[in-house]
Amino acid sequence: MTHYFDAVVIGAGAAGLFCAAIAGQRGLKVLVIDHSEKVAEKIRISGGGRCNFTNRDVTPVNFLSDNPHFCRSALAGYTPQDFIALLQKHGVPFHEKHKGQLFCDRSAEDIINLLLAECAAGHVERWQPCSVKKVTDLGIKSDLNPINTGASSYQIDTDRGLIETPHLVIATGGLSIPKIGATDFGYRIAQQFGLRMVEPRAALVPLTFDGDAWLPFAQLAGLALPVQIETGSRDATPKQRKKATVFAEDLLFTHKGLSGPAVLQISSFWLTGQSLRINLAPGQDLSHALLKAKASSKKLIANELASVVPSRLADAWASTDAALQRPICDATDKALLSLAERLADWQITPNGSEGYKKAEVTAGGIDLRGPEVVPTTQRVLAQIEPSTSSFAAFDADMADGLVLLVVVTGSHHSTTWRASQAISDPTITRVLVTTNEPATGTRLAVHARSDDDFVAAWQSLVDRPAATAAQP
Ligand SMILES: Cc1cc2nc3c(=O)[nH]c(=O)nc-3n(C[C@H](O)[C@H](O)[C@H](O)COP(=O)(O)OP(=O)(O)OC[C@H]3O[C@@H](n4cnc5c(N)ncnc54)[C@H](O)[C@@H]3O)c2cc1C
Repeated sequence: MTHYFDAVVIGAGAAGLFCAAIAGQRGLKVLVIDHSEKVAEKIRISGGGRCNFTNRDVTPVNFLSDNPHFCRSALAGYTPQDFIALLQKHGVPFHEKHKGQLFCDRSAEDIINLLLAECAAGHVERWQPCSVKKVTDLGIKSDLNPINTGASSYQIDTDRGLIETPHLVIATGGLSIPKIGATDFGYRIAQQFGLRMVEPRAALVPLTFDGDAWLPFAQLAGLALPVQIETGSRDATPKQRKKATVFAEDLLFTHKGLSGPAVLQISSFWLTGQSLRINLAPGQDLSHALLKAKASSKKLIANELASVVPSRLADAWASTDAALQRPICDATDKALLSLAERLADWQITPNGSEGYKKAEVTAGGIDLRGPEVVPTTQRVLAQIEPSTSSFAAFDADMADGLVLLVVVTGSHHSTTWRASQAISDPTITRVLVTTNEPATGTRLAVHARSDDDFVAAWQSLVDRPAATAAQP
């Protein structure tokens, strides 16, 4: 027996549950599938167990992507205030912690319960644990589809049976924290459907440093202090420095390297081999403080340094250089100025990160620059066939993939031939032939899933020698 749902969501995490709830509340018959027994395990551990569920001041600027515009309409359509209102509707208490970050007062479980209640309100069905063996694009409308929209259909082979649906949402998340169920399923499906990828990498992740070079700092594990951190090296040109990403947050020393909000944030921008620059005493005039101390104090340099940075850090820093292990009054001005400069501009190069085992998120993934997600069909069309001008008036629903619009001059018969070519092409998901044409031609639109399919479709329709066309 094949089960039919209007929409199937694979992955019962934050994204999948929210999407399913909204679709269900809009009247669709929705199924959520997850291979884990429990839902939303990542929400459970988020925000130290209290889930930092939104930030009051989210804007598109906070979105890290090669296509920074991708999130604009989503953020305009559903704002942080909308989600806050949802928490208020469910009576979930919360508080602001730091820089607009909102956390649950009680626990992240409140957010999971909220999402499950919203799913229940949308009569969403859940199959858990349930493994998905295969997803097939049937490329045709489903006989089971009572709505009969003409949209293409997906068949999902699961260990609980076969499912057909015209709307399939892959919400299986990224690669971080495999021990609670993360897999590369979403990326494999993307490849199956020919979507371009940006190499995934661990992000919001602690950074690690070379064993020997890190030895003096390993003893500082557990020490936290406010810093300013940025990507790039001291040799960077002014233009490169202007582009550097900078955060003012807390830094945490660990046994293997650095963590804390400052490093987690910068890790999303850091690329292998790149240096980091850290000001360990932001907002302080270190040169002035050390030279002033030299004039009046007989204390060791480390002890004087401890008035501007934590004493454990001052001791560790002084231990790296014999010239710093003396009373401050015996130090040269040059040595003190150099110490001040290095503390305000500590340049270090991570040898890597703690990886997906510790990463809060995964950067990269599906390439958001493609016309699959940005309706730039007209741009693509213009590249392929600049003389095609009437597509501007075309109003097909583009939600189902790329739209290839061919303006065919000639009889309706030849148009029909071309349309039949498109129908028999497995890469084309939808065909639309308009009949209310101006005298000059007939418009034929086909939907394809990717750039390559799009171009192939164009070639199969247009490049074929005219002699083979079934002319009237
Ligand atoms: C320690 C930690 C702290 C965090 N803190 C915060 C925070 O405070 N605020 C914040 O906004 N974000 C935080 N995050 C990030 C946040 O948790 C994630 O970005 C978010 O949960 C991702 O949601 P998702 O639905 O996309 O994916 P996921 O939550 O990963 O959900 C994916 C679901 O798909 C299922 N799945 C995977 N593969 C398959 C498969 N093959 N078949 C079937 N099902 C499958 C999984 O079991 C899972 O249930 C934190 C992350 C971590 C690790």
